[in-house]
Amino acid sequence: MIQFKQVSKVYPNGTVGLQEIDLAIRPGEFVVIVGLSGAGKSTLLRSINRLHEITSGDISIDGRSITSTKGRELRVMRRGIGMIFQSFNLVKRSTVLRNVLAGRVGYHSTLRTMLGLFPKRDMELAFEALDRVNMLDKAYQRADQLSGGQQQRVSIARALAQEAKIILADEPVASLDPLTTRQVMDDLRRINREMGITTVVNLHFVDLAREYATRIIGVRAGRIVFDGTPAQATDEA
Ligand code: ADP
Ligand code: ADP
Repeated sequence: MIQFKQVSKVYPNGTVGLQEIDLAIRPGEFVVIVGLSGAGKSTLLRSINRLHEITSGDISIDGRSITSTKGRELRVMRRGIGMIFQSFNLVKRSTVLRNVLAGRVGYHSTLRTMLGLFPKRDMELAFEALDRVNMLDKAYQRADQLSGGQQQRVSIARALAQEAKIILADEPVASLDPLTTRQVMDDLRRINREMGITTVVNLHFVDLAREYATRIIGVRAGRIVFDGTPAQATDEA
């Protein structure tokens, strides 16, 4: 369970990102956050794993406040959260496999992993993850030789290799064409179903949200202006 209690975020320049957000996301939900550019979607998503600090309120995951957690414990909490970005964030000159293994790095001493010494268990997790997104045959290709959609599926595999229980995807399909958009959304939804991974996705297309979400949250000016099922979203639109 991801719980927001009266969460506000004001950027250092005074811009209001979030205003008194109260929100509970239950395990296994596939939540799509929609809203116009500048509405606060990204601010909301990035608050969950503390990619930035909130100004007031509290965010907890499974009853434990991430807002007040520090150091090693924070790193352990973050390990349970996979992050997917519009720009894929892969190491371009590395192989697909190495990029997926990056999801395991937090589990070991840096020197071992820098030398490329991953235990057998990590290799198994990485290959399993690649299999889930149908990218097993691309394991030894360089990341920058893949199409955008394939790169995004590698970043999903990286989150799986990390054994994330939560996936946060910030505009994961914004730079993809309509066909690849579907493949990536299909993968995210299938993984959510098969593995029960709680998924929160930012999108700016309401149509896509209706098609995939179990729950749609509409955001405007840092506030939640809609929270309901895709059917309810259709009724109101
Ligand atoms: P505007 O008319 O200024 O675009 P909206 O009423 O569309 O503002 O609300 C802002 C955002 O919240 C929109 O981008 C929309 O995606 C989302 N939203 C608002 N109401 C709904 C709704 N009933 N169903 C789904 N999304 C909604
Ligand atoms: P969205 O993801 O819905 O496009 P954002 O969360 O990125 O919206 O932005 C919400 C508001 O916060 C916007 O007014 C935006 O301009 C502002 N904002 C985002 N990032 C920063 C920043 N680093 N510094 C100042 N203002 C920011």
